[in-house]
Amino acid sequence: MRKRIAILGSTGSIGAQTLEVISQNPDHFEVEVLTANNNIELLIEQAKLFRPNVVVISNLCHYDQLKEALKDEPIKVYAGKEAVQQVVQMSNIDLVVTAMVGYSGLIPTCNAIKAGKHIALANKETMVVAGEIINQLAIENHVNIYPVDSEHSAIFQCLVGEFNNEIEKIYLTASGGPFRGFTLEQLANVTKADALKHPNWDMGAKITIDSASLMNKGFEVIEAKWLFGLKPEQIDVVVHPQSIIHSIVQFRDGSMKAQMGLPDMKLPIQYALNFPERLPSTFKRFNFLDYPKLTFEQPNTKNFRNLALAFEALKQGGNMPCILNAANEMVVQAFLNDKISFLQMPEIIGQILEKASFIKSPVLEDYILTDKEVRIMTAASIKHLAKQKI
Ligand code: MN
Repeated sequence: MRKRIAILGSTGSIGAQTLEVISQNPDHFEVEVLTANNNIELLIEQAKLFRPNVVVISNLCHYDQLKEALKDEPIKVYAGKEAVQQVVQMSNIDLVVTAMVGYSGLIPTCNAIKAGKHIALANKETMVVAGEIINQLAIENHVNIYPVDSEHSAIFQCLVGEFNNEIEKIYLTASGGPFRGFTLEQLANVTKADALKHPNWDMGAKITIDSASLMNKGFEVIEAKWLFGLKPEQIDVVVHPQSIIHSIVQFRDGSMKAQMGLPDMKLPIQYALNFPERLPSTFKRFNFLDYPKLTFEQPNTKNFRNLALAFEALKQGGNMPCILNAANEMVVQAFLNDKISFLQMPEIIGQILEKASFIKSPVLEDYILTDKEVRIMTAASIKHLAKQKI
């Protein structure tokens, strides 16, 4: 029996790489559902190639074009956010890959879990915003959540065979991004184009900015808390510019296990799709002599304040990580639109974390309201700063 896969966000970087993995393993997987936000050309191309049962375009404007392009194919075509949220419940899906960007992943992921679908989690914002609720739903519905994020996949791989052994600590590795070692003066003048050049990983725009600002690592700290049931003080970040060691688990006897390999997202994707069995692959192999030196350093949380803000939000708990995420999505968009500078991103997020209303034990509706409220607040701060610039 082939595993029937739904990919939410199939035209993004992770979605496209998931399709590559599937096409290399046609005996193991088949594509049941593809969804995309806006990239209609690529979605049509993917649909014709993989012939899923259903495709959904989130942006309603593209519906007619999609319907027309696929009219000779035996493929059902839907449009709209609600369709994305509902399609994950279809009975002929075994696993949902959540590869969309940001907060938009939350409701579809909740619905998929409620329908008993296993999750390959690539949308880390879902766990950042509402990790407690996601975990609770997964337990109630006997659903497994397989991490796709390379660091969390590394930890997951290190934990195989160790499920009864207590974790003392984990180390998430960080490449440090394109601005590693930069002074505040240098960071003040970096451009969007500079930030979009990641040294080791080829990713979408939003996560690439998050990587440059270290917010991505902050989110991964929060994601790790929920995925592995850890306390904030059990999670550490170490900068490892070569991105060969993908993360490390330290057990209570002091022994450390690390997972390593060349940086290639197809590996954690394939591992998540076919856990626990490893499938063969032709991915390029690591050669020690190409990397005679693997180096490690401490992250600079003074210059990259986002990482400190994320730890702070994690310690305070409640809806603070949700506030952090909503503010971040807004400032990243503003930075990509040339409205604010690189250093204004953490500056605004810091202000919003202090201003937004704190809820200690939020339910799902609280997260939805918090997200809305924080976006409005952050938009006002961005406008205010953008005015000062003129
Ligand atoms: Mn990662």
